[in-house]
Amino acid sequence: MSVIRRGRVLRDILEDKRRLKQAAEFAAEQRRLEIAQKAPLYADLSGEIAHIFIELSREAALRPGDADALNRSAHARVVDLRRRAEAELSAAGYSPADLEPNYACPLCRDTGFVGEVEKDRCSCIRQELNRRLYDEAGVAGQTFEQFDLGLFSIEPSLSGQSQRAFMEQARDFGLRFARSFPNNARKTLLFTGLPGLGKTFLLNAIAAEVLTRGFGVMRLSAYRMFEIMRKTHRGQDEGEMNDMLTAELLTLDDLGTEPLMENITVEYLFTLLAERKNHGLSTIIATNLGLRELSQRYTERVASRLSDRSSTLVLHFEGGDLRRGQPGG
Ligand SMILES: [Zn+2]
Repeated sequence: MSVIRRGRVLRDILEDKRRLKQAAEFAAEQRRLEIAQKAPLYADLSGEIAHIFIELSREAALRPGDADALNRSAHARVVDLRRRAEAELSAAGYSPADLEPNYACPLCRDTGFVGEVEKDRCSCIRQELNRRLYDEAGVAGQTFEQFDLGLFSIEPSLSGQSQRAFMEQARDFGLRFARSFPNNARKTLLFTGLPGLGKTFLLNAIAAEVLTRGFGVMRLSAYRMFEIMRKTHRGQDEGEMNDMLTAELLTLDDLGTEPLMENITVEYLFTLLAERKNHGLSTIIATNLGLRELSQRYTERVASRLSDRSSTLVLHFEGGDLRRGQPGG
């Protein structure tokens, strides 16, 4: 997976819209041609209606005092002609709606924009943008709006705080982090704790929010990260290493589950963290390992980068396993 950027996804959507609009208008044009053949009287009647309106405006200009009477008489004739025209249409198997393009979005007529003077992006674009961003990033269903605190226990854990109370704080923190991105005091977040405690959900919800705000996000499992590192090591990288180094937000899930090859994992991970920190880029890492285990697996050098409190905020997710009871984040 490469970096996902809102700008590119938006361009794709507008391009798709343009095609949809063209197709709808082409189909309507085809139907109008068919109707002209199958219901020739319809065209004659429509022509008569148009003629009445032209006549009306001319007459009304010449005799402004009679405008009301002229209007009334024209109206009666138009109503009658329209009724006959529609009967012709219907006899040929069409409805008046068939004459118009059948736009996917009637609000913006598939232009993607609404408003006369100030053009605003139509709601159809905004919805589609979020849908595609979440889909491409693989975070559909894991946004802050879908964060369900009800899933978490209200039993007090070791620290005396319930999991639900902790998750509420974690969620609020994550939302603040995503909304002030990229101007965060500490740009690296490390989520530790056992599986099933909501680390991945929070990680994805932050990624989703940052994506919708227009920043480039790369979301990787540690295994995928390892594969990119191994390819790079063999000189077979296809630009993904550069994406990892430069994405405005990089999220790494499940750190510690990837294969460990010291000359690859440890070296590249150290470089990755150092480079991203030097460039002021944000990295969010979720791991089932504790700080001591991280140090054992990736060396002290990497672990101290990961737990450097000046640049990293460590959030320890509690619950379940009591053996590794660090008091909450
Ligand atoms: Zn629309």
